[in-house]
Amino acid sequence: MALHAWGRLPNPHNANTVRLHDRHADLPNVTLPWLAHGCGRSYGDVCLNRRGSLLHTINLDHFIDFNPATGILRAEAGVTLRAILALVVPHGWFLAVTPGTRDVTLGGAIANDVHGKNHHVAGSFGHHVRQLEILRSTGERLRCHAQQHAELLRATIGGLGLTGLITWAEIALIPIANPFMTVETTRFGHIDNFWALNAQAETCWPYTVAWIDCLAQGKRQGRGVFMTAAHAATQENLPDWREKPRNIPFDPPVSLVNSLSLRTFNALYWHKARSGTSLQHHVPYFYPLDAISRWNRIYGSAGFYQYQCVLPPDAMCAGTTSLLNRIARSGQGSFLAVLKTFGNHPPPGMLSFPRPGATLALDFPNHGQRTLALFTELDAIVRDAGGAIYPAKDARMPASLFKSAFPQWETFSQWMDPAFSSDFWLRVNS
Ligand SMILES: Cc1cc2nc3c(=O)[nH]c(=O)nc-3n(C[C@H](O)[C@H](O)[C@H](O)COP(=O)(O)OP(=O)(O)OC[C@H]3O[C@@H](n4cnc5c(N)ncnc54)[C@H](O)[C@@H]3O)c2cc1C
Repeated sequence: MALHAWGRLPNPHNANTVRLHDRHADLPNVTLPWLAHGCGRSYGDVCLNRRGSLLHTINLDHFIDFNPATGILRAEAGVTLRAILALVVPHGWFLAVTPGTRDVTLGGAIANDVHGKNHHVAGSFGHHVRQLEILRSTGERLRCHAQQHAELLRATIGGLGLTGLITWAEIALIPIANPFMTVETTRFGHIDNFWALNAQAETCWPYTVAWIDCLAQGKRQGRGVFMTAAHAATQENLPDWREKPRNIPFDPPVSLVNSLSLRTFNALYWHKARSGTSLQHHVPYFYPLDAISRWNRIYGSAGFYQYQCVLPPDAMCAGTTSLLNRIARSGQGSFLAVLKTFGNHPPPGMLSFPRPGATLALDFPNHGQRTLALFTELDAIVRDAGGAIYPAKDARMPASLFKSAFPQWETFSQWMDPAFSSDFWLRVNS
């Protein structure tokens, strides 16, 4: 079966695919170069490898150890965050950092050093990795932690799968009293209001994020809904909650996302949002998009891009406004865009994406050259601001932007396993 990335951009060359079943086994004897592939929730080509073979890790799905007294968990790299939560939440533990979907593997979360809505207090996923094992193409198995192979660990966290195969990892969880979140919602009428709300909220809430209407212009530019949250403390009067999974059952031939549907959805969402405090189960709070599996099909056979950038603190307000102006003028755009600020934690990986500043993420239907031309203009704003694009979401950033935004790339490349590569790595080194 051909493996895809989440953006489902047309890809005429499928890689050879082999499923791994045993973490103790040697790497398989298949066409080089190799690349691990987890759930394929990266949007672009960091999880693709058309010249060689994908090592599909989804059956490396065993838990190795979990201590409910300390919240230390060790698991094979193909275990998903969904499976981890199913195991640990009933024992009063939660992931220290989680992205906006549970359907990612432990190995994928480490290799992209994913971030969540609590970066300003907790840093990124890699900050909570205590140790891991990496299997190199030489057959060596290297256990990496702060006292041993520490530089290889720093290369592997955020290392985009290029340092070898992570076979297992050990992470530290955080305690929770129950599966619910206290969520405070505030509707705001203009992007300028976001910065003040956010600065205040970051001093008292562990989770902060805003959904903004990237198509609203003029006096309503960047209007949005700001959500702050904390794990609920109360044990009493917790509501019943059951997941009702839904699916997009077929591939529409053309995108169902167009400027009319986008404008209507974004305006409805903003008008429907109510300011106030509520108790929400952690699943709809953290993973609203998991409610519809395979929602990426709505973009039709041409697929879609996500553009996620980070802008440094001194440029984030003006830079975000410039990005929104340019996007609104293009008439292309996104269902709700996500805006959040990162904290000042030193990055745990050489190629970690999170860094101080604000990160903006938007989805765009693939309209070919028209969409790529818009991205070139957005890149210029990001470059001038000294920002960066997130490799996990990227399918087209130019090599020059990657190299200037990830200045440790040369040091990183010394730790790469020569038998591993990816379409992303070839592209940003061409
Ligand atoms: C709806 C949605 C919401 C998202 N929200 C966020 C978010 O809030 N924050 C965020 O940071 N990201 C977010 N993402 C992106 C996603 O979290 C990352 O792309 C994640 O890394 C995907 O994990 P995966 O298991 O699907 O890995 P894949 O996409 O299959 O692979 C990702 C990378 O990990 C490497 N890899 C996988 N397994 C291993 C292994 N065992 N050993 C070595 N390398 C390995 C691959 O080679 C590849 O380079 C979101 C994605 C979606 C679809």
